[in-house]
Parts: sequence; structure tokens; C-alpha cells
Amino acid sequence: MSTTIPLNALRRHEIISNLSSQEFDLLIIGGGITGAGIALDAASRGLTVALVEKHDFASGTSSKSTKLIHGGLRYLKQLEISLVREVGRERAILHRNAPHIVIPENMLLPIVAKGSLGKRSTSVGLYAYDMLAGVRRKERRVMLSILQTLKQEPLLRKEILLGGGLYKEYRTDDARLTIETMKTARAHGAVMVNYTLAKDLIYENGKIAGIYAQDLLGNQHYKIHARKTVNAAGPWVDTLRNIDKSLKGKRLHLTKGVHIVVPYERLPLHQAAYFDVADKRMVFAIPRGRTTYIGTTDTNYKEDIDNPTTTLADVEYLLKATNYVFPTANLTVQDVTSSWSGLRPLIHEDGKSPSELSRKDEIFYSESGLISIAGGKLTGFRKMAERTVDVVVKQLSSEQAKEYKPCYTDKITLSGGDFNDEDKIPVFADKLYNEHKSTGLLREDFRQLVDKYGSNTPDVIGRIEKTDASLPINIRSVIAEVDYCVEQELVETLGDFFTRRTGRLYFERPTIADLLQPVADHMATVLEWTPETKATRLADFEKEYLAAVDFR
Ligand code: FAD
Repeated sequence: MSTTIPLNALRRHEIISNLSSQEFDLLIIGGGITGAGIALDAASRGLTVALVEKHDFASGTSSKSTKLIHGGLRYLKQLEISLVREVGRERAILHRNAPHIVIPENMLLPIVAKGSLGKRSTSVGLYAYDMLAGVRRKERRVMLSILQTLKQEPLLRKEILLGGGLYKEYRTDDARLTIETMKTARAHGAVMVNYTLAKDLIYENGKIAGIYAQDLLGNQHYKIHARKTVNAAGPWVDTLRNIDKSLKGKRLHLTKGVHIVVPYERLPLHQAAYFDVADKRMVFAIPRGRTTYIGTTDTNYKEDIDNPTTTLADVEYLLKATNYVFPTANLTVQDVTSSWSGLRPLIHEDGKSPSELSRKDEIFYSESGLISIAGGKLTGFRKMAERTVDVVVKQLSSEQAKEYKPCYTDKITLSGGDFNDEDKIPVFADKLYNEHKSTGLLREDFRQLVDKYGSNTPDVIGRIEKTDASLPINIRSVIAEVDYCVEQELVETLGDFFTRRTGRLYFERPTIADLLQPVADHMATVLEWTPETKATRLADFEKEYLAAVDFR
């Protein structure tokens, strides 16, 4: 097992020297959920593992999803039965292993006149969905009359309503799920770094033997050697296959998906809803904290992969769909406080529209030995990792006559998920409140911290007393979060903190105005930024901020 240097930005140079000074069994390119899952699976089976991410962990598609760990009701419609069964079972495993970030929630499916769902077919469909997914008896679907549906959700358009179905989906925080998986992989010995580009591939006797890496923060170039290399670069998978000169046969088909966020009081839903849109698609509206978010669009994408943006047309499509089903909301563009836009790395199938393309994952093999994994879902990442590492282990075993453990990630609790059962989580938050209310933080502040950091929250709270006592408690608490994220989650930039580790850019955007300067000042001190670096970091975050709000 390789050395376990934490994901500590203050020890970045040690991580880099570790990466450059040994030959790994496996090198993973891409630090989204797919790469994170593979790193955990491989490291826990005893492989030495390296992972590089060119921007921040989860900065690609893995922070831009609908943030659901779901059984994939839409796949039932497409008769992808084995996919429904697999992802359904995965939900239960992920909930058990990360109960703080994979949480069951009610989802209402309104059945409307001229919609894509009939009452009978929905009842049978949801029943089949529950059965295939192995859903617990108390969580199985309930069919509702018109009156019951309206009672459940009074904002629905009454005159088109035929009834409803209430079932369970699991909400998550995609970027935090990724970082918790990374931290768990790190605890098993994987060496991982962000802001490091796999610029080119190293070959020995025509076979891939690692990468030429570029540290984008220090602009240092170095080599990482590995016996096997996996390309888990999401929407960039074909870019790397191109570098490998193996881009033939099946290719990626990228589609763009946009979500918008409105204040909760502008769409105060009692639970999440999944509703029909005029073009026969379906859209989610999901309450979260003080907001409700709505998504997604699904359109072909051929522009800059690094910068998918939210356009006014995307926003208007989602608003129109929502206002039709929830007519009293009367949402306008001015209500939208934030947004995100992500790319689905799907596999091309001739003649299929974006929504018809399969979400199945697939592994591509190149003559050089590069193993590329594409397609799939956040929900299925553990299984995707198992399949990929099975391939790697088979190859390594035959080449080295060495045995590796079988996959057991279904039994590995993710970092922050140390709770015997989900009911213990609010009790844990209350206990922390009772022990630390002298800090001045409110009960709900502790709950919010536990929602983010789970059983690691005491490590965050313990850092509050080290902050400047003359500062207001909300600032002290955020600085403690920054310190935790810098030392345990490799936070290097303002966007890492405000967008991906804490989700503030999306769900607490108005709070950023007061927090930005103290956080930037503190990060500049601990990360030893020069005035120029600080100015660059602020300008970069301003761009990220504008991308979320400036679509008008
Ligand atoms: P990514 O997260 O994009 O990670 C790939 C990483 O590789 C990137 O971070 C990139 O920076 C890095 N990289 C690329 N090239 C290089 C290089 N040369 N060197 C180093 N690093 C590199 N799934 C669900 O289960 N539930 C949902 O609710 C859901 N909703 C979705 C909604 C939308 C709008 C979209 C777009 C997808 C949704 N999905 C959902 C699918 C899911 O989000 C994706 O399948 C998943 O996040 C893909 O993860 P990934 O790691 O493969 O790709």
C-alpha cells in the first residue's frame, strides 16, 4: 500500500513528489465520481493507485447533475430493465455507506391530462420500479387520487390533474459524494491530486506506461509511471482517446443539461416533483434548504467542453414547464438566483435523440492498453468501478502472477458516513449543538454542517476555537470550514470551496457577498498566495459566479 498523505493542500508538494517517484499499479485520469470510485475500488483491493484531475475534483459533470441517486424511472420507460435493477440496488448500498449524503426523499409524480403517464401504467411502472430496485416495504409507492395529490401538493394545476404517484428517490450532493469517495480512497492509500493535467501519454514498446503531468498551480511538469492507465475523463474521454490515436468505433455523444435555482418561497413545494413537459420529456423540481432547483434540459452539445453555459433559452424552457404545472408560481427570469450546466458523456447511437440515448456505461480498450470508461450515472459509479477494476486486476494478475482481493466496496463506509443508521444523524447534530452552543451557532447551523461533513463535523467545529474570536461567529464557522477543506479536501481555490465543497454558489448564493472577502483573505494567508495569485483567484471565482447567474 502506498503512503497515505492526506488530501491536504498544505502538503501538495509531498503529494506531487509521491506521484513522481514510484511506478503505480494503476493511474486514473479524471477526478469525477467515476475516477473517484475506481480509485477507491482499486486501492481497497491492494493496488497502488494514482489519480490526476485537471481542474478541481468533481468540477466536470460530477457537480452538475440533478443530484439524485435514483433507480432511473425513465429507464423503465425505455425498458432498460437490468439498468433499473442495478441502479436501484446501488441506491440502497450508497445510502447504507454514506447516509449523510444519500438521503431518501418523497417524490411526487403528478399524472396529468395529455401527459406521458397514464394512471394504470404509472401504478404498474412504479410497482415494477420498487420491485426491481428492491425497495423497503415502508418506502414503496402509493397511488393518489386527484384530491390526495392536491393535498400533497396544493400548487399543482388542478384542471389537468388525473391523480399522482408518491415514491422514494434519494437525494445527494454529487460533488460531496465525489470528495467523500476520494477521501476514502486516500485512506486506502490512493495518491490523488487536483489541478494536474494529463498532458500526454508515455509509451514504452508501444504500450502505455503513464502520463506527462502538468501541475497547473505551480506550472511544474513531471512524469507519472503506471502499469495500467484508466481514462475516466467523462466528457473528455474522447480527447484522451484522440491523444492515444485510438479514437475509432464508438464515440461519445455529449448532451447538455441545465438546472436553475429559485428561492424556496417562490416555489414552496412540499416535496420533490417529477413532471411532464410539453415535448414529452420530464423535469424535476426539488426543494433544497432555502431554495428549490429545477432541471434539467437535454440538448445536443458540440461547443467548448470546458465551458458549457446556461443560456436564456435553457432558463425559459425550464420556467415555462414549471409555470404550466405550478401556475400560481409565475416564475420569471428575475427569480432565478443561480444555475449550473453540465455535459452528459453518453455513447453515440445513430438516429437517437438526446433523451433516447442509453445511460449505460461501456469500457473501450485500445491497442496501447489505455482503458477508457464512458457513459453511466452517478448512481451506478460503484458498479462501474468494480467492472473497470476487474479488468485491470485480470490484466495485472496475468502479467505479474499476483493475486488481488475481490471488490468489497459495498461494505466500505464512505468518509463522513459513520452512523449506524440514518435516524442517528439528527441526534448527532443535536448532540453537537448541546455541546457547542456556547460558540453562538444555532441548532440549524449544526444540522447544516452535519449535512455536509457527516461524522467528520467535530473536526470542523474543533477548528472554530482556533479562529479569531473578535470575528462574528458566522465568519469564524466558515473559516473553520475552509481550514478543514484545505487540510482534508485539497481545496486550492475559492470555487473549490464555495461551489464544490459547500454548494454555496448554488444554494446559498446571497451569503457569498459577506463571506467572499474574509474567506479570500484567510485562504491567501494559509495557502501563502502572493497578491497576484490572490487577484487571479478572485477573478477566477468571479467568472465562475457569473456563469451561474449571468444568462440574461
Ligand atoms: P466527470 O465528472 O466529468 O469527471 C471527469 C473529470 O476528468 C473532469 O473533472 C475533468 O476535469 C477530468 N479530466 C478530463 N481530461 C483530463 C486530463 N487530460 N487530465 C486530468 N483530468 C482530466 N446521474 C445520476 O445518477 N443522478 C442524477 O441525478 C444525474 N443527473 C444528471 C444531470 C445532468 C444535467 C447531467 C449532465 C448528468 C447527470 N447524471 C446523473 C449523470 C452523472 O452526473 C454523470 O454520469 C457523472 O457525473 C459522470 O462522472 P465522470 O466522473 O465520468 O465525469
